Amino acid sequence: MPVSPHATRRPRIRPRGGSPVWLFDLDNTLHHASHAIFPAINEAMTRYIVDALSVERAEADQLRLRYGRRYGATLLGLTRHHPIDPHDFLRVVHTFPDLPAMVRAERGLARLVACLPGRKLILTNGPENYARAVLAELGIERLFERVIAIEHMRRRGAWHAKPDLPMLRRVLREARVPMQEAILVEDTRSHLKRYKRLGIRTVWIVGHLPALKRPDGTAARWPGSGRPHYVDRRIRSLKSLRPGHETGRPWSRFESRTRT
Ligand SMILES: [Mg+2]
Repeated sequence: MPVSPHATRRPRIRPRGGSPVWLFDLDNTLHHASHAIFPAINEAMTRYIVDALSVERAEADQLRLRYGRRYGATLLGLTRHHPIDPHDFLRVVHTFPDLPAMVRAERGLARLVACLPGRKLILTNGPENYARAVLAELGIERLFERVIAIEHMRRRGAWHAKPDLPMLRRVLREARVPMQEAILVEDTRSHLKRYKRLGIRTVWIVGHLPALKRPDGTAARWPGSGRPHYVDRRIRSLKSLRPGHETGRPWSRFESRTRT
């Protein structure tokens, strides 16, 4: 996939309504988070855990990874098992003064998103301020009717994150998104797998996934090969979602189903 510095020009296209309803993940879906942002977030999380819990760096790293895998977001494990301030954590580990230099995305991203018919929402396990900062840097913030961030996934004081099922049902109900009209575009397979149970359509975007490494650091294999049964379409680039694009499973499959 061509990777270029972020867009600087914004197309004069307004958000569209109707169906389908695109639920876009943010990191490694709309931009190449693995380039600089994920390493910075991971480092900031580990440092925060070291300071907040007074643990060694190795243990902080383990907690970060374990909670991220188990709960979908490190924050959830921290709030469940430790007395931390979740809002302070989110703010500290997602604030980057040099964000513009860190953001990478596909060429023509704004036009690729803008040309998709239907409604578009962001569904991210990141915090809202971070999501909006990245979207603004990409020049696509106004193309989305709402950002559903991790703060919006809370219920009765408890934090939730993708791939929680009741959370998704609730936030889609609040956004008036019929499940049968939703298309989730994500890089994280476990989220797609869980949400496929709800009858949602799924697009697995693999173009930003980092190569899996051998212990010696060399690239072992491309992580986005094959198409699991819970993935309706596997794409490398958002170009493949353009109406009329004929590679892979055709767009018309989505379009025809949304119009019945
Ligand atoms: Mg992602």
